[in-house]
Amino acid sequence: MPGISFTPTEEQVALQQLAHEFAERELRPLAAEADRTGAFPDGLLARAAAVGLTSYAIPEAYGGGGVGAVTSALVSEELSWGDAALAATIGATMFPVRPLLAFGTEEQRRRWLPRLASPGGCLAAIAFTEAEAGSDVAGMRATAVRDGDAFVLEGEKMYITNGGAAEITVVFARLDDAVTAFVIEAGDPGVRAGRVEDKLGLRASHTGSLVLDGARIPADRLLGAEGEGFLIAMDFFEHSRPQVAASAVGVARAALEHATAYAREREAFGRPIISRQGVSFKLADAAIAVEAARLLTWRAAAALDAGHDAGLLGSYAKAFAADAAMRVTTDAVQVLGGAGVMRDHPVERWLRDAKVLQIVEGTSEIQRQVIATYLTQGWDERPR
Ligand SMILES: Cc1cc2nc3c(=O)[nH]c(=O)nc-3n(C[C@H](O)[C@H](O)[C@H](O)COP(=O)(O)OP(=O)(O)OC[C@H]3O[C@@H](n4cnc5c(N)ncnc54)[C@H](O)[C@@H]3O)c2cc1C
Repeated sequence: MPGISFTPTEEQVALQQLAHEFAERELRPLAAEADRTGAFPDGLLARAAAVGLTSYAIPEAYGGGGVGAVTSALVSEELSWGDAALAATIGATMFPVRPLLAFGTEEQRRRWLPRLASPGGCLAAIAFTEAEAGSDVAGMRATAVRDGDAFVLEGEKMYITNGGAAEITVVFARLDDAVTAFVIEAGDPGVRAGRVEDKLGLRASHTGSLVLDGARIPADRLLGAEGEGFLIAMDFFEHSRPQVAASAVGVARAALEHATAYAREREAFGRPIISRQGVSFKLADAAIAVEAARLLTWRAAAALDAGHDAGLLGSYAKAFAADAAMRVTTDAVQVLGGAGVMRDHPVERWLRDAKVLQIVEGTSEIQRQVIATYLTQGWDERPR
């Protein structure tokens, strides 16, 4: 029975430091302007890719760093500490990785994974959501029909990170009424970008619709077996939720650090405001929340690395961390008082980003629904 260790390996520390330095040097200085314009800065993806931050989770055999879920979570936290919106775009490069590794053929892996790991960066996406099907993934209506040696896809995916901008997208549609996954590439006939959203938070992360207007793709773009799409989607969420949780930890930690520094400096009634329990207890609660959210995140990621079912743990982590980020950023704004709602300080942006984190990759309510289902059915963590 292995023990429990919270001591990172040398490789983990090195990657964590690399991500932290990148976040401090490249993300923080660009974050406010990118939030204002809603545009991802030119050249940033290539700079992230050049130091391995878009490919660390891709196996070495395909040109990546080959690290597991815990190490990925360490990186996600640091990058989102720098800026969650920019980190979301950088991290989305790896969205197709798990579906390709778990369900793709070797030929498909060799075709797309090295491209995703390319040193210039490669925007990627995964598209489940439609106007009538968000939380209810299985309710999607996009269709795929066979036409000779091709599939023809019809429908519109909305609210997609990098939707319509990505070079490679894993997309889900109903084939013979069963949800099935496909890979589409930019430039495929009948694939086009739709509306680009203007959002409350994570503004610099591109969110847009992807229109499949008689999109004709060769038969070798089928990912997994016909009708296996829902399984591929759930497997994706099991692997992505701990990373979104890590992102929420990064946002909450940033807000805690900023609010604490401010409270030590800012004086009211002749004393630093941190000397007032009404302020310091908010910070204490925030510190507890950050640490607890991080531990749940590591626990879920460690289960993935051990090859165990991490569905329940991932939902614990994602719900807790996103809700914690919302609470911590709200309290951070309060601690800064009037300055908290001004754009001179980043805490109002972090509050808006935290709100979005409670919605993406399954809302906080859906995470509770997942947890309730496990509880109803009985559960223990076991190898797959
Ligand atoms: C910035 C951003 C990026 C995104 N990126 C992607 C992406 O890359 N790919 C992709 O496919 N999708 C993406 N999405 C879509 C996202 O996954 C959905 O918005 C999310 O799952 C919620 O779906 P919905 O918006 O349709 O809300 P709905 O499903 O309509 O939910 C509305 C409300 O009802 C609640 N609700 C719904 N069902 C239940 C239930 N059974 N029990 C309790 N409450 C319930 C929800 O929690 C929510 O509060 C993104 C969304 C955003 C905002």
